[in-house]
Amino acid sequence: MEAAAMKKPHAVCFPFPAQGHINPMIKLAKLLHHKGFHITFVHTDYNYNRLLKTNPDSLKSSPDFHFETISDGLPPAAKNVDRDVVEVWASIVTHGVGAFRDLLNKINNNNNIPPVSCVVSDGNMLFTIQVTDQMGLPNVALWVTSAFVVMCCLHFPHLRERGYSTLKDESYFTNGYMEKTIDWIPGIDSIRLKDIPDAIWTTDPECPYVDNVISEVSRIYKASAVILNTFDALESNILKALSSIVDKIYPIGPLDLLLKEVSNNEENDGIQSNLWKTDDDDCIEWLNSKDEKSVIYVNYGSTTTMSQEHFVEFAFGLANSKQNFLWIVRPNLVTGGQNLLLPEEFLAEIKDRGKIVSWCNQKEIIKHPSIGGFLTHCGWNSVIESLAAGVPMICWPFIFDQPTNCFCLCNNWGVGIELEKDVKRSEVERVVRELMIGEKGKELKKNALEWKKKAEAATGLGGSSYMNLDRLVEEVLLSP
Ligand code: UDP
Repeated sequence: MEAAAMKKPHAVCFPFPAQGHINPMIKLAKLLHHKGFHITFVHTDYNYNRLLKTNPDSLKSSPDFHFETISDGLPPAAKNVDRDVVEVWASIVTHGVGAFRDLLNKINNNNNIPPVSCVVSDGNMLFTIQVTDQMGLPNVALWVTSAFVVMCCLHFPHLRERGYSTLKDESYFTNGYMEKTIDWIPGIDSIRLKDIPDAIWTTDPECPYVDNVISEVSRIYKASAVILNTFDALESNILKALSSIVDKIYPIGPLDLLLKEVSNNEENDGIQSNLWKTDDDDCIEWLNSKDEKSVIYVNYGSTTTMSQEHFVEFAFGLANSKQNFLWIVRPNLVTGGQNLLLPEEFLAEIKDRGKIVSWCNQKEIIKHPSIGGFLTHCGWNSVIESLAAGVPMICWPFIFDQPTNCFCLCNNWGVGIELEKDVKRSEVERVVRELMIGEKGKELKKNALEWKKKAEAATGLGGSSYMNLDRLVEEVLLSP
């Protein structure tokens, strides 16, 4: 490698090994690459092997952007099945320190690449600080949630102290207890317990998981800085409150828009990160054949599963709405194995009005002019990608931060309608029609377009996210 290339700053980017964490990290890695960094992107062995099968191109290295792998500590026997994210997290947090140290040493012993100058860790994996502190390297956390969710998580210890974390039994989820409002979290006027991220609810006071979550979250105070895939205008109050608790916060979202700006619209470098094989080749053509804003896009992200009953209710609700729909049915979407074969009567009814594929390139699909709404499980990436595209949402949240995101979409940002948990076809039909052709839908679409404009302003030349990225590089990543 030439002398100049050896002098480049070198960022090691280490996401939590799940799709919703890998995607924003790869976008951030590309941004840093554009800013002149040499990049090492770290996958776990399991995902690396999976990507080799599903999307080998996604692992194509260039001289200054390459991939490494690390064990997640789980035995090989578990490697043939889809992994439980909580189990993976518990394992990697326990076993990751040694493996990560070995990896950084290996990189630093390689005379053909510049030595590591900084680390970007997933906000859930800040155990890496134990290694970077010893090596004297900055370690920046990428939290792949909203600022609102970070604020809630930082108050987990307070919620526990006040007795809100341990629920006597499962009935607490249905007996009205979770309707209780909390009005003392800075920047949040009032929120119901059930809308707070679910990582601390337990009916087992001895449960070690809650302790682990709380101690992992508290590592945020030790990070050199915190990066968020959000933007100032969207969460100004919360961001202000958050900056008085956590030292350096850099909101640089929506990452897709910022990447488009920083790369001069040429970010299609082939580096992808889809753990599933996309089968959306003819989707754009199909969308091209539809009227503007006439298609509802339905996707529940990469981990959410549902019962066969709910799956069938969605199918008939979508068909009965008489609206165009693009429905992504992941191979493992239905709990307990195979997705139900859709009944003949359903397929006959939808004809060309509906299209079903198993995995798509969402960030491209969502911005197609024919998409008029998004039925989503409210994963943060889906939410921010939808806001960046100016698309309003129907919210069907499940777990983790999804109920919190749903709360913000429906109450704070005016771009969401919530679908009841025990979903019925008549409700799906009603809500889809309301969003696509109803009066409320018009209002939500208008609001979503406003957010899109604000997101574009934030990521455009001189905008808040644009400037924050430059500040992050200068103040933290390149700071001696
Ligand atoms: N995604 C995609 N195609 C799909 C489903 C999901 O490209 O068919 C991407 C989506 O764009 C997002 C990520 O996978 O970037 C899912 O993250 P999100 O936070 O929305 O949900 P999670 O999968 O973490 O629950």
